[in-house]
Amino acid sequence: MVRVGVLAVQGDFIEHSHALERVGLESVEIRLPEELESVDGLIIPGGESTTIVQLIDIYKFRDSLKAKSSKGFPIWGTCAGMIVMASELTDKRPDPLQLMDIVVTRNAFGRQVDSFEADISVSGIDDGPFRAVFIRAPIVTKVGKQVEVLSKLDNGNAVAVRQKNLLATAFHPELTSDSRMHLLFAKMIEDST
Ligand code: GLN
Repeated sequence: MVRVGVLAVQGDFIEHSHALERVGLESVEIRLPEELESVDGLIIPGGESTTIVQLIDIYKFRDSLKAKSSKGFPIWGTCAGMIVMASELTDKRPDPLQLMDIVVTRNAFGRQVDSFEADISVSGIDDGPFRAVFIRAPIVTKVGKQVEVLSKLDNGNAVAVRQKNLLATAFHPELTSDSRMHLLFAKMIEDST
């Protein structure tokens, strides 16, 4: 069985653990870089990206995450996690980890619609649309050649992207009872091992 790490420094990591356990996947809370050796993939949850990046640097995760990610270790960032993984932000802060070739804009939906839900179709997810929960969500404004856009909103904003072993979603699959995105990530892990 695959063991999925969830970065547990800030944000809604508990919801991810519950979502993994609901579909019978083993989840492990990760608080120190050496703990990454005990898992087959990592989820970086939603939360506050500036705080998450600060804690990543305080606990010295940056180099090991970059090294592992370039060696094919599967990583999935949701919302703030997507911001953390970006190569570039249109905002001044935080300083992202540059794991994926994507440019991301934080809080892209402004104040009026800072939270909303939408039924979206996601490439690789079968059996109908996915109910996506957006909370002060980012969008992907530019993708590199190796990045596949898995989902776009009607206005053209990319909200789910994949680059080989790396997955990023602007929304929060851990906040719904729909496990298909977690199963997609588990499949990415299985394919990588
Ligand atoms: N707006 C947050 C940020 O920029 C992300 C919000 C979330 O993860 N739900 O970090």
